[in-house]
Amino acid sequence: MTNFEYAPAPESTAILNLKEKYGLFIDGSFVDAKSGKFFDTINPATEKVIASISYANEYDVDLAVTAARKAYSKTWSKLSPSARGKFLFRIARILQERAREFAVLETLDNGKPIRESRDVDVPLAAAHFFYHAGWADKLDHAGLGADPKPHGVVGQIIPWNFPLLMLAWKVAPALATGNTVVLKPAETTPLTALLFAEVCQQAGLPEGVVNVITGDGGTGSFLVNHPDVDKIAFTGSTAVGKAIARAVAGTKKSVTLELGGKAANIVYEDAPIDEAVEGIVNGIFFNQGHVCCAGSRLLVQENIQAELLEKLKHRMTLIRVGDPLDKNTDLGAINSSEQLARIRELAESGDAEGAQRWSPQCQIPAQGFWYPPTIFTGVTQAHRIAREEIFGPVLSVLTFRTPQEAIEKANNTPYGLSAGIWTDKGSKILWTSQRLRAGVIWANTFNKFDPASPFGGYKESGWGREGGRHGLAAYLKGEK
Ligand code: NAD
Repeated sequence: MTNFEYAPAPESTAILNLKEKYGLFIDGSFVDAKSGKFFDTINPATEKVIASISYANEYDVDLAVTAARKAYSKTWSKLSPSARGKFLFRIARILQERAREFAVLETLDNGKPIRESRDVDVPLAAAHFFYHAGWADKLDHAGLGADPKPHGVVGQIIPWNFPLLMLAWKVAPALATGNTVVLKPAETTPLTALLFAEVCQQAGLPEGVVNVITGDGGTGSFLVNHPDVDKIAFTGSTAVGKAIARAVAGTKKSVTLELGGKAANIVYEDAPIDEAVEGIVNGIFFNQGHVCCAGSRLLVQENIQAELLEKLKHRMTLIRVGDPLDKNTDLGAINSSEQLARIRELAESGDAEGAQRWSPQCQIPAQGFWYPPTIFTGVTQAHRIAREEIFGPVLSVLTFRTPQEAIEKANNTPYGLSAGIWTDKGSKILWTSQRLRAGVIWANTFNKFDPASPFGGYKESGWGREGGRHGLAAYLKGEK
């Protein structure tokens, strides 16, 4: 078959109004950080500096928490629920109006393909605000008690893999339930949170209801330990989640944790193979595999392994790696040199422990951080690549002979965030899902998200749920 050549189709960055330096967003305004310190955020596809970002130290965090407290007691808690809902509707509509700007900025700062930021991250972020806007005046009917109350000031810390979407998962339910917010985005992807701060101004949100402080783990730690924060909502790694759980133990603070995963994507012998191959590709190569619920362990029934792998490898040769701003790109840049080093180290452990690596031929750009789509076959349960979260475009393939063996292998992990099941039989879907210890289970699909559907994990994948009615509970003090 002759290769189909695509002409480059880059999205223009002309829509952006980038600044050289960004301040912190505290009490409704952009302000200089008391720390006087800055750090760079770079484009991972080119390694070029995009902007200089303020570093929030202990004093800056205190100012943000003070602003959030004042806004909570003076304005936000005084508003009627329907008035709160109107602000959320307004934010949702502005996100839609400025969708292209958000998508381009997210791709520039994160490295994800514009196709994904445009078609997934930004529309889903707007959908979260619309969904929660609808809840604001119906909390009495959420099954959480007659008059559920907000916590007050919520500290929210998010990772770099879905910067705007994770912001929406956190900020929308917090505001709908009447809390005020201090949000800390990840140090490598602060720009869409800062653009969101402009949206809060544009929506006329009362000052101090949302505050955005930029910085690293140190900034996050100041926020976690601030005595006037009532609740911490964290999404990130299990290691940091455990540190936060230790830090808030014994305090009045409530906490929710959305942590890592090592999901099994189980393909039975009666599965529709072509659809399963699409689901496997979507499960592990979507967002460069920087997905907490990625289907990073493929469990395939032994008798169809050869056929499935042949089709999967062919499909992988069609994945286009390169410029994230190009609308034809399927797999963009790895978010940081640190993450690239982590992926390389774990993949090399796969080689050293005897698994067989395969990647299609692909041209990797000279600048930037890249990793080709990769699968390892001959993986056993003991291999590090079967146990540890790689958080990159690397799939570990294991086999099973009986459904019981599939369940035991799938559950043999400290994590329990998500899983996938591929089969022609509805009864097998039910049998399997009842036995899997995972918070989210997809059947004959993968990586589908909806604001009405609660998301979260068991075991070391976290505490609590985000989204849906269950997600509201985390932001209210009513009966759970
Ligand atoms: P990370 O834990 O290193 O960082 C996450 C955030 O926490 C960042 O903003 C960081 O600055 C901050 N942070 C770091 N140390 C801190 C500390 N001691 N105290 C307070 N804050 C601190 O994680 P990451 O590498 O940015 O993100 C990848 C991880 O996030 C993966 O493990 C992934 O599975 C997980 N994740 C989970 C979900 C989910 O919903 N379960 C969603 C997305 C990502």
